[in-house]
Amino acid sequence: MSQYDFDLFVIGGGSGGVRAGRISAGYGARVAVAEEYRYGGTCVIRGCVPKKLLVYASEYAHAFEDAAGFGWSVGETSFDWAKLIANKDKEIGRLEGIYRRLFENAGAKTFDGRAKLLDAHTIEVAGQRVSAETILIATGGTPVKPDIPGAELMITSNEAFHLPTQPRRIVVIGGGYIACEFAGIFNGLGSKVTQLYRGEQVLRGFDEDIRNHLGAEIAKSGIDLKLNTDAVKLEKAANGALLLHLTDGSMLEVDAVMAATGRKPNTAGIGLEQAGVALDKAGAVKVDAWSRSSVPNIYAVGDVTNRINLTPVAIREGHAFADTVYGKKPRQADHADVPSAVFSQPNVGSVGLSEADARKQFASVDIYRTSFKPMRHTLSGRDEKILMKLVVDAGTDRVVGAHMVGPEAGEIIQGIAIAIKAKATKADFDATVGIHPTAAEEFVTLREKVK
Ligand code: NDP
Repeated sequence: MSQYDFDLFVIGGGSGGVRAGRISAGYGARVAVAEEYRYGGTCVIRGCVPKKLLVYASEYAHAFEDAAGFGWSVGETSFDWAKLIANKDKEIGRLEGIYRRLFENAGAKTFDGRAKLLDAHTIEVAGQRVSAETILIATGGTPVKPDIPGAELMITSNEAFHLPTQPRRIVVIGGGYIACEFAGIFNGLGSKVTQLYRGEQVLRGFDEDIRNHLGAEIAKSGIDLKLNTDAVKLEKAANGALLLHLTDGSMLEVDAVMAATGRKPNTAGIGLEQAGVALDKAGAVKVDAWSRSSVPNIYAVGDVTNRINLTPVAIREGHAFADTVYGKKPRQADHADVPSAVFSQPNVGSVGLSEADARKQFASVDIYRTSFKPMRHTLSGRDEKILMKLVVDAGTDRVVGAHMVGPEAGEIIQGIAIAIKAKATKADFDATVGIHPTAAEEFVTLREKVK
């Protein structure tokens, strides 16, 4: 019998922690998990899932507009924010229950409370002291606000999911995933949206063509996208409105200001210092390729390690940890060619290298690119275009990047990502028969290199 109360103590019941705990328990480990809020973590409770539900809600507005060209008279529409939020909360409650049961059915013990390390093997949680041979930190991340006067008046994505009323006018600060997604959500739902981004173009790090195309589509969709512009001060007016002062000297009067200006790892106040766990400059737990921290019996997975901050990656890291430590199947999570989507309107889907990164890695790069109006909009009349792009290493003919802006880009790029992972060549893409009529078929009919 082990000298410890548990073989594994997981701190955090989000995507990474739940997967790691459940699989470890399945291998026979005695597992406990502590969660201070709700099971499911950022993704289920205040991230991917509720966000996607709000995106669906928002897209109806475009569908109603587009229907006229197909002969429909939609008539007057109205939107009930409170009803959407209530329905969304019901679904999140259902999913949370599933997550908790996944644990309990696996035989793991759950602690409802904040856990704190007292040393490398001792945890204080819910008024108790327990010990564990191995500890897994899976505490995720949290939004950060810009450091400007009045920032306390801003909301973040956390609050955006629970606003009692829909803001009539909103500013979204940032040009990343969350900013582009929420600007689109509020715009579709009828709010007047301004999106501020301090840089040249949204989605820094993505392929340049994708960034420029999405920036143009955001502007066409009715969002006032202000590039090279930042917020300097926020204050409350006598009438209750918010006044946001911008770097260009102008001022916006709005009902809400949402900071979508990045996230930071949740490493403060959980005793990592006492246990001797090293953090990096961003405050993330430093880990090796096995997700092991500087303390040999303490591991960390997911956003708290600030590697690739995506749910499916956290799940992979958690599963690889369990297989390695308890499953006698040592393996590292693979961080190469991870696809992702931005659920902006239109969507962005991306896998592999951008053109700029490919040019740094390979002597010669071929680019295939097409931009066209989706078939639906020939009748709807909507002024929206799709962009698709393949990046090819000319030396091996291997497709090293695939990028898209357009409806269902996430769904389409998921399939393309398999080809990229399998190291498909451009000749393999060319040999694949298209499905007609789809937008996705363009990925297998791109013949002309961009000069
Ligand atoms: P990102 O890092 O993607 O974007 C942050 C944005 O805020 C950037 O445009 C950044 O500008 C800007 N910014 C940062 N600090 C400031 C500041 N002080 N003042 C003004 N602007 C600032 O973070 P997000 O919060 O959007 O998302 C966090 C992570 O969560 C993502 O990177 C992603 O990994 C994940 N995520 C994934 C989603 C998905 O898969 N669909 C959805 C949502 C989140 P700059 O570029 O100049 O640094």
